[in-house]
Amino acid sequence: MSAVPAPARFTAGGPEDPQSGMAQCVTCNRSDLHYLNGQHVWISGNGESHTGHELELLPERTSQQTGGSEETSLDDLVRLHGKVEADCTEDGWVFLANGERFGSFSLKEMNGTQFDVDLAFRLEVEPKEILAARLRNYRKEITAEELSGILTSTVKRDEPTKKIVFLNMVLAQTNEDQFNVGFEAESSTGKSYIPLEIAEYFPDDEKRTYAGASPTSFYHEVGRWRPLSEIAQEVELKGVFDKEELADEKRKVILVNLERKLLVFMDQPHWMLMEKLRPLLSHDKKILRYAITDRTGKGGLRSKTVIILGYSSVFFCTAKPTQDDQEKTRLTLLSPEASQEKIREALWLQAHKIGDRRAFREWIETHPLRRWLKERVHIIRASGIKEIIIPAPEKVLERFLEKRPRLAPRAQRDFPRLMSFIKGFALLNCFTRTLAEDHAILADDQDVEEGFRLYEQVASPNELGLSPETYRIYEEIIRPLSQSSNGENIGVPRTEIIKRYLQTYGRPMPWERLTKQILPALESAGLVHQEKNPDDKRETLAYCTDVARISGDSNNTGNNSAVTRPEISKRCIAEERDRVLGKLRAIGGRFSWDDAALRASEVTGDRLGAEDYLERFQAEGLLAQGPDGYWRLTK
Ligand SMILES: [Zn+2]
Repeated sequence: MSAVPAPARFTAGGPEDPQSGMAQCVTCNRSDLHYLNGQHVWISGNGESHTGHELELLPERTSQQTGGSEETSLDDLVRLHGKVEADCTEDGWVFLANGERFGSFSLKEMNGTQFDVDLAFRLEVEPKEILAARLRNYRKEITAEELSGILTSTVKRDEPTKKIVFLNMVLAQTNEDQFNVGFEAESSTGKSYIPLEIAEYFPDDEKRTYAGASPTSFYHEVGRWRPLSEIAQEVELKGVFDKEELADEKRKVILVNLERKLLVFMDQPHWMLMEKLRPLLSHDKKILRYAITDRTGKGGLRSKTVIILGYSSVFFCTAKPTQDDQEKTRLTLLSPEASQEKIREALWLQAHKIGDRRAFREWIETHPLRRWLKERVHIIRASGIKEIIIPAPEKVLERFLEKRPRLAPRAQRDFPRLMSFIKGFALLNCFTRTLAEDHAILADDQDVEEGFRLYEQVASPNELGLSPETYRIYEEIIRPLSQSSNGENIGVPRTEIIKRYLQTYGRPMPWERLTKQILPALESAGLVHQEKNPDDKRETLAYCTDVARISGDSNNTGNNSAVTRPEISKRCIAEERDRVLGKLRAIGGRFSWDDAALRASEVTGDRLGAEDYLERFQAEGLLAQGPDGYWRLTK
């Protein structure tokens, strides 16, 4: 008796994956899997991919067995238009064939192994036509609004925010188009809720979540102890290690592989860890090397080498990042919405979640559109696309500049953010984009449109280095208070701000938050300056320096903070220049850069315009910095 050899098992997407044929999934107990060359995934009759699952190859069906040699492959069927059309809706899948509509079917119904065969019989088509129709549907063009409609299942409102978070997570798979997001808001609005919920659509093995860790514990928690020579075969380490080190067969290091991962910091990371990760966060270096010392059991010390690999899509759901962190890591600042409607909707969701946890879980897991988006993410990942090319970058730049007649140095940080958004949309729709060589696609006009639309919604605060929430407080509370009834710009006592905040939002603003965070942030953005009340020296007043803002039109900050930019009149530049110089002369002697900008902005009406002049004067040698750090006019 010869034993029949057990069929070889392999992990779908793993190194042993034969990448062709038919298989059954041991993990899901389904026997109707095909390998799809076009999408590099194993897919079952119900349209779901099985990457990471344990599979067993099935004997290949020959053309005789299937009764025909001209069988169209599933790959072809997916690419071409078939006889069946499928659409995923909130209630389930709908199928159209021969002028008839079938469905909607819930995922539960569709998971039955006979479902495809039965439906095929009713539609009078082959089962694989149905599968192909579903696969085509996963690849269809999707708009930002449709994306947001799905994300709304668990993240109510928070319009630009959830899209930006999702796009950044999609971009994790690219070589270097990931960006860093910082959440800044009142503690109760749940800063980590949005990234953690959105991360649900992404594969588990890509996520890394940390609560404020010291560098050493971070390395140990994530790192793997591996031979250096082995790593060197996978990663280019020349320039990081010298020849001798690389030749040392016995040498082991801790590899912290963050490449293409979603990295969520739940708390403020240890400042030392931030320092260390910085070259990676700012995309200056993809591979970092550090030495750490560990205590050994006998009370001695042992030094170890750590290699950190980037890049990742990073989310800081932390206490307020310092201005310095923001600058150096180029954070895109977002705030969860805290409107009454948002809170009410979030509570509704919470009621259902807590009321019946099991039912809620099931609802989430069988939500057809959530499953659809998860599956789409899977296929986007499997596409292996790592680069997105924007074919006419100069046009994007031109359009960016149109609304920004005065440029601040920080535009160099803002513009790449816009480019990332455009790339994110392209990758989300990679199936309908033109393929370029070497794992690349071309972004199209639609992506540019969507990218701009999304960017303009967070542009105003971000271009000032403010979180949307801080900016909103400025726009909705402080600025209105600073306008007297006859249109004068008056100083606002801080107690007034707190009072108006409570009236407007129905919750108190802690004094500390106003005086230590919000006002200083607005001051460093040049929107506000504070002075003692001349009539009562115990009181500090906030003045809006204000007027014009960097980014243009009125619909560019979302629903919560409309900005109107007064038309820049064609002013006589020479005359204005003289007036700015006059302001600086009036100070007499030395002054700080901030002070000068403040005085100049009395003429230009905005901080950026003011700094523009200062920089020009400096370039012309009119303005110079002394060894004491203060500035002086030279003539
Ligand atoms: Zn499976």
